[in-house]
Amino acid sequence: MHPAAIEALVRLRADARKAGFDLRVASGFRSFERQAAIWNAKAAGLRPVLDAGERPIDVRGLDDTALVFAILRWSALPGASRHHWGTDMDVVDAERLEPGQPVDLRVADADEGGVFAPLHRWLDERIASGRAHGFFRPYTGAGCAVAPEPWHLSFAPLAWECQRGFDPTALAAAHRRAALALHAAIDGAREQILQRYFEVPARLYAAALGGWDGAGRAEHA
Ligand SMILES: [Zn+2]
Repeated sequence: MHPAAIEALVRLRADARKAGFDLRVASGFRSFERQAAIWNAKAAGLRPVLDAGERPIDVRGLDDTALVFAILRWSALPGASRHHWGTDMDVVDAERLEPGQPVDLRVADADEGGVFAPLHRWLDERIASGRAHGFFRPYTGAGCAVAPEPWHLSFAPLAWECQRGFDPTALAAAHRRAALALHAAIDGAREQILQRYFEVPARLYAAALGGWDGAGRAEHA
């Protein structure tokens, strides 16, 4: 994680601790190479591609463009993942995990009755009231075509700079250099992909930025 995001995370963790949660990062920074390995494995059918209900799709009947969009539902395009920025993370309540239990991020665990539901209801309330130290959820199922990922938090002040400064030309060059799977199909749909799966509307950042005073402290902590 970026040092500024860590500072905010430490504060969020301390608040969570007081509320009875052990908020931990299951996945933070992810490199282009790691994301490309995930992407290539899904494109090659070596990792399951899931539908909106988290069920595996039979990808054999899909053409390249349809496969690109199927993968994008749950996996970011390498180079366009928010996990590359050091500002974004997937969180769990370690209090609710058995020792050594592998972390599997599923919507059902965050929904009512799920193992992480209490943590997420607490986060809902903190985010809505501008008391989440600059963190917000970019993937709510609204405003962006990425499937809802309640566990995914983003540090708005820095993430906004990263999104604003994003360079689609550099992305295309990186895909060519890496000989990324399906890169011809990606090229053909690049603008649409970025619009639907990358650009998180500014209004989603706005609430989180309102609760952040620029020094890493929430105004109403
Ligand atoms: Zn994530």
